[in-house]
Amino acid sequence: MESIWVRGPTEFIMTKTNLFDLNYAALSAFLKAMGEPAFRAKQLFQWMHQRGVVDFNAMSDMSKRLRERLSETAELTLCTIDSEHIATDGTYKWVMRLSDGNCIESVYIPEDDRGTLCVSSQVGCVLNCSFCSTGQRGFSRNLTVAEIIGQVWIAVRRLSEANGEHDRRITNVVMMGMGEPLLNFEAVVSAMDIMMDDNAYGISKRRVTLSTSGVVPMMQRLREISDVALAVSLHAPNDALRNILVPLNRKYPLAELMQTCRDYFKVHGKRRVTFEYVMLDNVNDKPEHARQLVDLIGDMNCMVNLIPFNPFPETIYKRSKRDRIDAFWRTLEAAGITCVTRKTRGDDIDAACGQLVGDVQDRTTRSQSIEQRQIKLKEQLDAFR
Ligand code: SAH
Ligand code: SF4
Repeated sequence: MESIWVRGPTEFIMTKTNLFDLNYAALSAFLKAMGEPAFRAKQLFQWMHQRGVVDFNAMSDMSKRLRERLSETAELTLCTIDSEHIATDGTYKWVMRLSDGNCIESVYIPEDDRGTLCVSSQVGCVLNCSFCSTGQRGFSRNLTVAEIIGQVWIAVRRLSEANGEHDRRITNVVMMGMGEPLLNFEAVVSAMDIMMDDNAYGISKRRVTLSTSGVVPMMQRLREISDVALAVSLHAPNDALRNILVPLNRKYPLAELMQTCRDYFKVHGKRRVTFEYVMLDNVNDKPEHARQLVDLIGDMNCMVNLIPFNPFPETIYKRSKRDRIDAFWRTLEAAGITCVTRKTRGDDIDAACGQLVGDVQDRTTRSQSIEQRQIKLKEQLDAFR
């Protein structure tokens, strides 16, 4: 945790520790190593996350000597807002620029009884789900803790500047922005710790949700160390179809994924898993799919979120028709499964699920363009139907 000296082109330069990379435990250890008493961590954490102060010199209840020492060894660095978009329904989207030039996106969705911030975990995504704009655009890198929690820090500040202190608050966080959070496990878990910490954002653990496309080993690890809410992106009730929609299914097929979900909630007994199911016209929305889904999850303590597909320019998919979504919903409800159809928000600013793209310097070695991949996908689906 201490600052490291590294050899620069002509001299030794010191890399400072970015304190936004540290959760409470790590910040305590950092300060302890400096010989500081335990209460300093609480003070410093509150300055950074609750008061939003990013200048050590403004931290008036800390001694001048400590502020100087912190300035020498540490820094308080966050991403910056590249642009802000406000939809007619009050949804905000921020494009945030990172120090290496990549951009990520975060979205705030106000509702009557809550305010939800949708946070990104990676620049792009390697998992390449065929209906997801983020996945189709490739992957650059994992976000740091500072870049993840920085999205919350910036959103809190912007919302209070724009609306006044109490008008628009963040009551819920969903890790449903760009990226697969379980493929950036350590940083995401640390950032979620900070979200839930009473000396930082104090969000209840039931109101922090991690959404995964089903990275089975990491779900098992998460179960052991965190009790945030879990959402699983299911999208298909059988392996053949899920292999096409969520290619990760070839590695972790449904039987394994379902067993992991059951185990997850043996531990976190009182809560239930949320399954997300994107409604794709004539692909996964037929009556037989609803029946298969009932067979797959009917005995679990779960709920289902039906997400009307949000289109993006290159896609071959279409949003399911309203009557198909309603019929699907009725089949699940009739089987006793709680089912909610998600309202699409932020349509006019491309802020809806699966539309977040940022500005990703793709480092994957995909040989085909998005357009070529969509043609191949159409062939796969036609063969399947
Ligand atoms: N990688 C994680 C979290 C980010 S995606 C995951 O896949 O769960 C957040 C949610 O948006 C997921 O349920 C995902 O399947 C869904 N999604 C992706 N593209 C979409 C689209 N075009 N329309 C609607 N939902 C989409
Ligand atoms: Fe990645 Fe999730 Fe998009 Fe799949 S749906 S490509 S896992 S961000």
